[in-house]
Amino acid sequence: MNTTIVKAYGTEAIEADLKQMNIERREVTLKDVEITILYCGVCHSDLHTARNDWGGTIYPAVPGHEIVGRVTKVGDGVTKFKIGDLAAVGCMVDSCHTCDSCKKDLEQYCLNGFTGTYNGRDKHLNSQTFGGYSEKVVVDEHFVLRVPENLNLAAVAPLLCAGITTWSPLRHWNVGPNSKVAVVGLGGLGHMAIKLAKGLGAEVTLFSRTPNKTNDALELGADAVVISTDENQMKAVSGKFDVIIDTVPYVHDVNPYITTLNISGTLVLVGYLGGLEPILNTVPMILGRKSVAGSVIGGIAETQELLDFCGEKGIVSEIELIKMQDINEAYERMLKSDVRYRFVIDMKSLQ
Ligand code: NAP
Ligand code: ZN
Ligand code: ZN
Repeated sequence: MNTTIVKAYGTEAIEADLKQMNIERREVTLKDVEITILYCGVCHSDLHTARNDWGGTIYPAVPGHEIVGRVTKVGDGVTKFKIGDLAAVGCMVDSCHTCDSCKKDLEQYCLNGFTGTYNGRDKHLNSQTFGGYSEKVVVDEHFVLRVPENLNLAAVAPLLCAGITTWSPLRHWNVGPNSKVAVVGLGGLGHMAIKLAKGLGAEVTLFSRTPNKTNDALELGADAVVISTDENQMKAVSGKFDVIIDTVPYVHDVNPYITTLNISGTLVLVGYLGGLEPILNTVPMILGRKSVAGSVIGGIAETQELLDFCGEKGIVSEIELIKMQDINEAYERMLKSDVRYRFVIDMKSLQ
């Protein structure tokens, strides 16, 4: 298969900083779209992958799955895009297309495993996939999204992961004007969850450990902020919420949040992957028909629905634009929860 060399930024080992490198991209095949990347968001999952937090990272690793750019080549069989169009790619670049999940537009739950935009298995080149911290990406048009023309393009990028990851559970659990929603953690995912739940008409509360984010949360549209370390504030919202979206990336006690669920309420974990500590107390779950659930990103049709919704409502991410060379510092700031509220890389800086 013909390939071209493109510039990228990635890491060669767990402990290593990210640095400039060259990677291969395939030439467009029949159904492929080549996108010249203009902006790429920085997700906490990029950091987890670069540092092998989840195990299984293949090095060199090039992160980045919040990609927006312009189409610069199309395969002969492409129908959705033409050269010059805006286009976006999120966390998936392939799936089996034939399993029950894929047939139901739930490619994120592909029974044969979806192909991640990075650190996945590229079926074409039989190597690992490389993400959006790069000049160009080549993706099957099924996994390429249309971008509303009326939005700030750099601030659209985070919709492709932070946006869809919070949109999908809000939609699945039928959040609307009568819902009371809470969001745990005000970072990339958390700030999108507030905006999207408000966009759907819900009453929204933020749970945060960080009192100095309160004003920001209110400006983002939250109706209230509860400091999760303050027992009195937690008691005041006991039994209140229909849905809680928990975006915390590390192990934490979810029991206090379950107490704040209404009867039949659901706590949806989208951040931390792994065993919970301390142990989950089933008493409030059984006595209140409460659920603890999880959710991963969203399907392609649902991601397009989100982008169209954001176009109509004028919703984008709050971003801090950085140069590619600033990525290692950005990761350190992300570890300190010092992101307001998503870093986005200006890909022009990759030279
Ligand atoms: P982020 O921007 O770093 O935000 C995480 C927020 O969680 C922080 O701003 C902080 O908010 C809070 N937090 C951080 N460490 C904490 C701790 N030890 N205890 C309690 N709260 C803590 O991260 P992100 O990009 O939003 O990603 C969040 C998580 O979701 C990551 O683990 C990421 O890998 C995962 N993720 C999952 C999916 C999915 O499909 N399920 C998709 C994308 C990302 P406060 O300062 O307000 O407390
Ligand atoms: Zn992500
Ligand atoms: Zn499938």
